[in-house]
Amino acid sequence: MNWQLIYVLLTLNLTAATLGLAYFAWKHRSRKGALSFAALMLTVAVVSLPYAAALASDTLRQVVFWNKMQYFGLSVLPVVWLIFAFEYTDNRRWLKLQNLVQLLIVPFITLLLALTNEEHGLIWEKTRLADVGSFSTFDPVHGFWFWIFMSYSYVLLGFGSITLLRKALNTWSLYRRQAAAIFLGTLLPWVGNLMLIFDLKPFPELNPIPIFFNLGCICFAWAVFRLSMLDIVPVSYEDVIESLPDGVLTVDINNRVTAVNSIIRPFLNREPDKILARHIEDVFADIPPEFKHLYRAKDARTEIDTGSTSIEVRVSPLYNRRKQFMGRLLLFRDITHRKRAESALKQRLEHLSIIREAYEEIGSTLNLDKILSLAVDAAMRLSKSQAGYIALLDQEELHIAASTGYGEQSDTHKLILKADRIILDRVVTSRKAQLLLDIFLESTYSPFLFDTKAKIVVPLISQNTLIGLMNVETANPDHYTSEIFDFMQILASRIAAAIDNAHLHLSLQNRLGEVHRLYQKVSQLEQLKTDMIRIAAHDIRNPLMAISIALEMLNEDQTADLPKLYVQSIHNAANRISHISEGILSLERIEAMATGVNMQIVNLCEPARQAAQDFADMAAQRSQQFVTDVDGEAFVRGDAMQLYEAITNLIGNAVKYTPEGGEIKVSLSQQAQEVIFTVEDTGYGIPDDKHERLFQPFFRVKTRETQEIEGAGLGLHLVKNIVDRHHGKIIFRSTYGKGSVFGFSLPIAQM
Ligand code: ADP
Repeated sequence: MNWQLIYVLLTLNLTAATLGLAYFAWKHRSRKGALSFAALMLTVAVVSLPYAAALASDTLRQVVFWNKMQYFGLSVLPVVWLIFAFEYTDNRRWLKLQNLVQLLIVPFITLLLALTNEEHGLIWEKTRLADVGSFSTFDPVHGFWFWIFMSYSYVLLGFGSITLLRKALNTWSLYRRQAAAIFLGTLLPWVGNLMLIFDLKPFPELNPIPIFFNLGCICFAWAVFRLSMLDIVPVSYEDVIESLPDGVLTVDINNRVTAVNSIIRPFLNREPDKILARHIEDVFADIPPEFKHLYRAKDARTEIDTGSTSIEVRVSPLYNRRKQFMGRLLLFRDITHRKRAESALKQRLEHLSIIREAYEEIGSTLNLDKILSLAVDAAMRLSKSQAGYIALLDQEELHIAASTGYGEQSDTHKLILKADRIILDRVVTSRKAQLLLDIFLESTYSPFLFDTKAKIVVPLISQNTLIGLMNVETANPDHYTSEIFDFMQILASRIAAAIDNAHLHLSLQNRLGEVHRLYQKVSQLEQLKTDMIRIAAHDIRNPLMAISIALEMLNEDQTADLPKLYVQSIHNAANRISHISEGILSLERIEAMATGVNMQIVNLCEPARQAAQDFADMAAQRSQQFVTDVDGEAFVRGDAMQLYEAITNLIGNAVKYTPEGGEIKVSLSQQAQEVIFTVEDTGYGIPDDKHERLFQPFFRVKTRETQEIEGAGLGLHLVKNIVDRHHGKIIFRSTYGKGSVFGFSLPIAQM
């Protein structure tokens, strides 16, 4: 068997396979570890190709040459392997340029020494060929540096392998198998190498290098193609932490920081690198004390508010695969935006609820004063103002209808309007709301309240008509945001509509009152008319009966004495009828005159004297003592005819309701600003229970003494009507059985 050929072919196969794997890895170079794997395979190819050449060579010179060439790959192979192992297991912290340069010192020296071996023999002390059956092979005596390089290589191999093994033990099964395949793929060539160096060959013709290297290559190919090594690579713990959107910090059982990501920087104000492995109390030295002990909790959530930022911190326990407590995970999240949005939303809801409440309250009443006070209150709450008022326009003039926060002096409202005049005029003219965030920009304006710094003035417009203004002011302009300004205008439109409604309601109420009064008057008149007809029908029937009986008697009885008696009876009855009709007529006349009273200055002494004269005879006939005290002048403003009517009625009643021999005193006097007319008698008087109804039309007091006395019950009602029309007061006192005082007082006429 031509072993030499077999080994050459095996080695070439290895070269091809490693180049293939290198190419495949290069194509997948974006995957983690792919690039270093490509480098590793390429390095193996760089070793294996000269090795094949060396195997195929016959002369020592050629063999030595190719062995030297091998060192281009061999010298860096341990370093490339280490890089790959570290990258695959995510120990990239080690892969710093400085470290790599240091690691490459030995390989560099080794390569130099290999290329210049003839000068010193530090790699191969002796180069020679040994016959192994059918072919000869390179069998050198290794030099001093060769052993150093070998030791160095195995140390690196050991490091890489331990890293891989640790990964294999601590990870999921797929990655574990990947790591095992790689480990085996690495171990096999080095075992072969050792066998070659120490001549541990079961058969003399066996060259372990091509065989073991090929076996190693199969392991790598297995890892790549069957275990998706370059396809599914384990994601590192650090990568996961780093790519989390929150600041992450983990601590172990002793509260030492085991991991952080860069997002933590603004939260702790420290560089993440400087925090690692420190005790957490050192790390938290600068943060708010209430949070300091939070890390001691196993499971907690809290918010730290630093004024400008809000941070949410969550603490949760970390357990390993065996459910043992390993430490804690602390997540820091910047929730400033969320907090701001939340508080803006809360404020907006507050504003909306104030507006909704105000809408409901203002809409629930038609009382203008109540609407105004509710409106000012709502405006103050909405804008968080110190003072505010609502001024209403009344015939082009503004007056403050409701205010709060300005103090209680009597002329406050006038002074406020005077101070605010410029701004109010501007709003009245433009009909546009004004937001003055800095009143000092208004050069000519000085506010009524000395600490006022900002103002909102909104026009109150209802149905396109400006009905007033609403003003609020504050010493803290921060409250007056554009949102508040908008809300104030919305509120103002509701207030304006409510004020308009209240005005409308008030004028409707007034009209309704007027109609009601008219209705009452009409009803009274209607009642009077009905009563008149009833009384007339009733009272006139008796005297008419008397007349007709008397006339019948006259007709039948022609005796001398009787006619006189009948004539007298007819006369009396006719008198009674005329009396009743007079009463009705005078009352009607007075009612009719109500609309057009003929007012002039009247000396009340004249009608009083005239009336007294009219009744003097009648009193004398009844043997009554009739005293008058009505001389001089007593001027009042009024209708002379009506006043005479009233006086006549009162004197007539006194004569009528005072028995023979009684006393009657008619007097007229002036007191302060009044003219007082009274008629005093010692007549029958009126029982107390009848006083109240005395002045109602057709009311008559029928006592034992007066029931025979005739009358229509209209006289006193007439007197009251006349006195009322002259803005006077009725005077009345009476004691049953003793006598009465009737009269009136009128204001003295201003001349
Ligand atoms: P009339 O005298 O036609 O009945 P009045 O309206 O003048 O109607 O008076 C109403 C009632 O008041 C009378 O019926 C009478 O009983 C009572 N009255 C009026 N004046 C006096 C008086 N001076 N003294 C006592 N009673 C009087």
